[in-house]
Amino acid sequence: MNKFQLLWLFSFLSISMIAQVPASTVEKKYLKEMDDLAKHRKIKKAFNEIVKLESQTQKDHIYLTEIPAPPFDEMDRAIAFKAMLEKEQFDKVWIDEVGNVLALWKGKTAAKTIAIDGHLDTVFPRETDVKVKIKNDTLFAPGIGDDTRALAMLLTIKRSLDKAKIQLQNDVLFIGTVGEEGIGDLRGVKHLFREDGPKIDSWISIDGGRIGRVNNKGLGSKRYKITYIGPGGHSWGAFGLVNPHHALGTAIDRFMNLADDYTKDGARTSYNVGMIGGGTSVNSIPFESWMQIDMRSESPQRLNEIEALLMTAVQEALDDQNGRKRLGDDLTVKIEKIGDRPSGELPDDLELIQRAMAATAHFGQVPRLTRGSTNSNIPISMNIPAVTIGRGGVGAYGHSLNEWWLNKEGYKAIQLALLLLVSEAGLH
Ligand SMILES: [Zn+2]
Repeated sequence: MNKFQLLWLFSFLSISMIAQVPASTVEKKYLKEMDDLAKHRKIKKAFNEIVKLESQTQKDHIYLTEIPAPPFDEMDRAIAFKAMLEKEQFDKVWIDEVGNVLALWKGKTAAKTIAIDGHLDTVFPRETDVKVKIKNDTLFAPGIGDDTRALAMLLTIKRSLDKAKIQLQNDVLFIGTVGEEGIGDLRGVKHLFREDGPKIDSWISIDGGRIGRVNNKGLGSKRYKITYIGPGGHSWGAFGLVNPHHALGTAIDRFMNLADDYTKDGARTSYNVGMIGGGTSVNSIPFESWMQIDMRSESPQRLNEIEALLMTAVQEALDDQNGRKRLGDDLTVKIEKIGDRPSGELPDDLELIQRAMAATAHFGQVPRLTRGSTNSNIPISMNIPAVTIGRGGVGAYGHSLNEWWLNKEGYKAIQLALLLLVSEAGLH
């Protein structure tokens, strides 16, 4: 493996894609549909425009990357993205109650609504230096790939469709979502798919590495913050009080033993205590002790089961610590759910999935059906057609300060997304 391949592997692993399943077959009629569509005079023109717009796409990409968009603080970038969309030919552009940016492009018959999305948020705190540095054509900046590239792609897709004078049958929503990453817990997409949300019949997310990704399975996760709370006191003078740290240690130990056994077989399931904290000094009995836990599973049922193991361990540790108490008040525990992403799967033969695979094949890539944790999790869990495709180019070190992205045939990912969108929305 040379250095380049190694970086490929890194970029491949750094995105939230977890498991790869072998690509299943693409039906011939979808391969033909894509090839025919790509041969259409207007689509050819749009493809050409994408290439002509390369420098504008890069300008947009850098401009948006340099606007910080930390979790729960995406508004600056949302306002900028909205202003850019307003310069294009949309019927309506707005920011919704939670901060998602939406641009509606009405179709001729408007029987269905197709949504295409990139997420606005990054994992980086506001003070992070997000200035883009260019070295030998490679763009370096936190968030440059994940997922700012997708936002620039959305703008270029609309511009090239307009330049090619393409009209679509169905309505299309171009969306910049908030809260995709980490503790954002998919809050933007959850809001869109709320009961009285906008009608969305088909969902295309652009998020993830190279082209070829066809993510049709959602990896579910549950996250908790567990806090043990006691009176706290002097380590010598108040000895005998309940100790929250001791309880936390017991809880971790019990949970690890239960969960370790549980995850040895069955549908793939994982658990991780990612953060612990609390305490004031070495000679103080702490008044609180907390941990954050992430659990994931391919199976919704097993996710519930490992969650139940955690609750058992937390309760047993509480009882154990209270049983050791020699003086003072009881230990209590606060259990907060800080993340809940549903899992689910869409069948490989679903039209949208077939089209995404056929479009991938059209660009000479072998489609890879994947399971991931992206905005598509929500529609997938509701059985609404949804797919996450790659942003193209090459890049690595997502979610780190060293993130980079290189425009190596990046236009192809834009063309692929456009082709998939047009096939779903229907050429008028
Ligand atoms: Zn992302």
